[in-house]
Amino acid sequence: MKNIYSNIFSFNNKTLNKTINILKKGNVVGLPTETVYGLAGNAYSKESVKMIYRLKKRPRFNPLIVHFSSYKEAEKEVILNENFFKLYKKICPGPITFVLKKRLNSKIHPSVTVNMKTVAIRFPNHKIIRSILKKIDFPLAMPSANLSTRVSPINAENVSEEFKKKVKMIIDGGKSKIGIESTVIDLTNKPKILRPGIISPNQIKKILGSNVKIGAQNSKLKSPGLLKKHYSPGIPIFLNKKLFDTNHAFITFGKKHKNNSNYFNLSKKSNLKEAAAKLYEILRKIKRLKYEKIYIVKIPNQEIGIAINDRLKRAANKK
Ligand code: AMP
Ligand code: MG
Repeated sequence: MKNIYSNIFSFNNKTLNKTINILKKGNVVGLPTETVYGLAGNAYSKESVKMIYRLKKRPRFNPLIVHFSSYKEAEKEVILNENFFKLYKKICPGPITFVLKKRLNSKIHPSVTVNMKTVAIRFPNHKIIRSILKKIDFPLAMPSANLSTRVSPINAENVSEEFKKKVKMIIDGGKSKIGIESTVIDLTNKPKILRPGIISPNQIKKILGSNVKIGAQNSKLKSPGLLKKHYSPGIPIFLNKKLFDTNHAFITFGKKHKNNSNYFNLSKKSNLKEAAAKLYEILRKIKRLKYEKIYIVKIPNQEIGIAINDRLKRAANKK
């Protein structure tokens, strides 16, 4: 089949080298990860970071996550601690982001962290981005590859449609398996989850052997995951709705629902992991079909359901 997206490339030695050259020149590329697709640039370069903010129309007070291939590279930029290593050993590479203290001699450009003394770091688990990270001598600043406040992309086409020709190169790494953004945990003090994700509070609690706080109350941190409005498909969403006959799009969960054409099931098996993986795909599909309103049933608020409800609540927020 002909590739109608001229900026999407499959991954091979040639496109690997091209990607590295683009990044070295201070330009940005769209890359796959296991969570969602990212817009990547050199985290040491002021120009790259500026370009990321400009393309995403991202408010300048929202810091970016910096990506590494292993803790050995991250160690040069941030101060790692015991809790970090406990989680790293069990989960990484994987869908978790750690907020840690920035080293005084770190080369990460101050605009990445909006001049804060902390850096959010992640070790993505996707073979394409891992092979790129291993070949470059700088970390990648990389937020999700969508316009600010919009739904995150889970495949290369989503990225291309979002930025059109403004992003010259997007590497196709298939569909993002996890489908929602990483869990963000602040480890600079007592562990605190700033953004829920697939890695649940219980799982973290078990690994750390201690309690973990949730939420960013009393925190001065300002970051996109904490913005009230985010992950929005641009159509009004109504949460916790009981099933009723409507012509609007209805997002369901579990097997008891009918197969009406306006019903979109997150998981017939009531599997929250599957629901998370399908969430953004379904929101995009509903938008494509030009529905004007989205109703959604109540999603259990436990484990991965906490992350799904977090995204839905903010997708539904009008502000
Ligand atoms: P995104 O890359 O768009 O999926 O979102 C970045 C997320 O990283 C935000 O939701 C923040 O919670 C988090 N973040 C990035 N840098 C920091 C930081 N220095 N301190 C706290 N949170 C951060
Ligand atoms: Mg994002």
